[in-house]
Amino acid sequence: MGGGGMTRCPRCDAELSDWEVEEAGWLQVTPCWCGGIPRGVRPTLANVAYAKLCDIDLRQPVKTHDVARFVTPQYRGDPRYSINGALSQGMRFCWGGQALYGLARHGLVPAARSLPEAAYAILIAAPRALHVEEVDFVMEQLNYRFNSGSLMHHLRGYTSNRRGLRFNIDYLNRVWVNSGRDSRHEYNRYVRVCPTHTGFDAWIGETLAPKVQRTLTDRAQRLASLGSGTQLDLAGDRVEFH
Ligand SMILES: [Zn+2]
Repeated sequence: MGGGGMTRCPRCDAELSDWEVEEAGWLQVTPCWCGGIPRGVRPTLANVAYAKLCDIDLRQPVKTHDVARFVTPQYRGDPRYSINGALSQGMRFCWGGQALYGLARHGLVPAARSLPEAAYAILIAAPRALHVEEVDFVMEQLNYRFNSGSLMHHLRGYTSNRRGLRFNIDYLNRVWVNSGRDSRHEYNRYVRVCPTHTGFDAWIGETLAPKVQRTLTDRAQRLASLGSGTQLDLAGDRVEFH
């Protein structure tokens, strides 16, 4: 592991994060529990929650209280008090917004626990500086649920973040981050998206960058199909697609 690119579940084809693969390795079982908790694995709150989030019918991140509801039939104990800790501390779980968690397969950045941490990874993977509205759009397409105003504050540097992540922004509201090797690895050292920097580089290049590129292309095409003005003029507008 680490540098091998994207791993997928042989059963349901879900994209697996390095942390899912690693944790399964420690437990000596296969990752992705779309078939339920593997035999011999303890039904801890985190394990039951992980198995529930692996359900193939689940396409989006889930509110914490719904995860608590899902695990109740299988978990011995009251999950309501410990579910937050289990989800926020478990490396297999991905943060998707306030009290919202999912897995890498749902589009979320592994181990990122806040808007700036997630946005930073997207900007590392971006092919160029992005308009703030593009960052907003990509995050929404990756299933993040958030307040746009709050994201803007982070990108413009009005709100500091606990990792001290710095966003550069120019007068056209284009935002970028230092994505050189050292900055990249420093980000991964703090946020721990992947257990190894090699794995992180591979994940950025092979998984996140193509997703970001696809989303930007999709946005440009949708804007073009609206037929009003040039792509450049529209790049700064927030457009809602449903
Ligand atoms: Zn699976």
